[in-house]
Amino acid sequence: MAEQHKSTVVITGASSGVGLQAARALAQRGNWHVVMACRNLEKAENAAQSVGIPKDSYTIMHLDLASLDSVRQFVKNFRESGKSLDALVCNAAIYTPLLKEPLRSPEGYELSVATNHLGHFLLCNLLLEDLRNSSASEPRLVILGTVTHNPKELGGKIPPRPDLGDLQGLEEGFKAPHSMIDGKKFEPVKAYKDSKVCNVLTMKELHRRYHESHGITFSSLYPGCVATTALFRDHYPLFQKLFPLFQRYITGGFVSEEESGNRVAEVVADPEYNQSGVYWSWGNRQKKNGKSFIKEVSPEASNDDKAKRLWELSQKLVALA
Ligand code: NAP
Repeated sequence: MAEQHKSTVVITGASSGVGLQAARALAQRGNWHVVMACRNLEKAENAAQSVGIPKDSYTIMHLDLASLDSVRQFVKNFRESGKSLDALVCNAAIYTPLLKEPLRSPEGYELSVATNHLGHFLLCNLLLEDLRNSSASEPRLVILGTVTHNPKELGGKIPPRPDLGDLQGLEEGFKAPHSMIDGKKFEPVKAYKDSKVCNVLTMKELHRRYHESHGITFSSLYPGCVATTALFRDHYPLFQKLFPLFQRYITGGFVSEEESGNRVAEVVADPEYNQSGVYWSWGNRQKKNGKSFIKEVSPEASNDDKAKRLWELSQKLVALA
């Protein structure tokens, strides 16, 4: 299909795992051009080639979500490319379960919340107008969620559980000595889970503020437990070896990277996913090509007051307010 007739999707963190496979799945459809928004350009190029994405179906652009300057520069570069924006997928994330002390973003924020939440929060805000101006009948903004955001589900029951508390860490500027949103002691696993609660709250608040006025469909999804991805690269080597086996043979919840990418592509492109403000899931005991359904999110991620407060505080931290 000629380039000018293709829709454009930006996917963050498309250099591995779910994001790479989502890029592959959308490009394979033939009517999508994928902008792979990645921090390592060479890695992204090799990754695109490794899964056979046709050369004319993708563009790689630099984006380091940990740096607010880089997010702003990415948006500038994207606009200069002259492409329209028809869908945005906020997929990139880091998970650093073994850290004893927090790493910091250039702005001084704890790195996993800075990358997974604040970088995406700024990106979504800056690209809203671009999505609004899309010629597509239904532009979409999709944010990756995870089962571990929800203590009401089995996968979310394992401690430490996410809890944003009263957002004290954010209220007080989120720089050292703060490293947790609730203002408590640093716990790297909880920091990741908290950031994923923020992702769902952001999707909900985007929907409340902009769905009607901008005609954009906002949604999240849990792609399934994709136990082989590089997300677990900073975990114990033994965990990395046993976790996929555990998911495949004990829980039955194993989802391949390819299948997870197909799921993201469905939420981005298929007509039945044109519902805004919802969170899609394929369940926890998953079969290939199983059916998706709208899943309730955790009580904290459904809290409208918290979504509003998180929005206001995040605006300040990324210098939008
Ligand atoms: P992954 O293979 O580690 O992919 C993460 C991607 O994010 C990589 O491309 C990585 O880039 C990129 N990234 C990390 N920091 C970045 C930064 N500062 N700027 C730009 N890009 C950055 O992990 P994954 O499993 O595919 O995870 C993708 C999404 O799925 C995440 O949102 C995760 O929460 C969600 N998810 C995953 C699972 C699972 O079981 N794996 C389950 C539920 C939800 P590099 O290649 O340069 O490192």
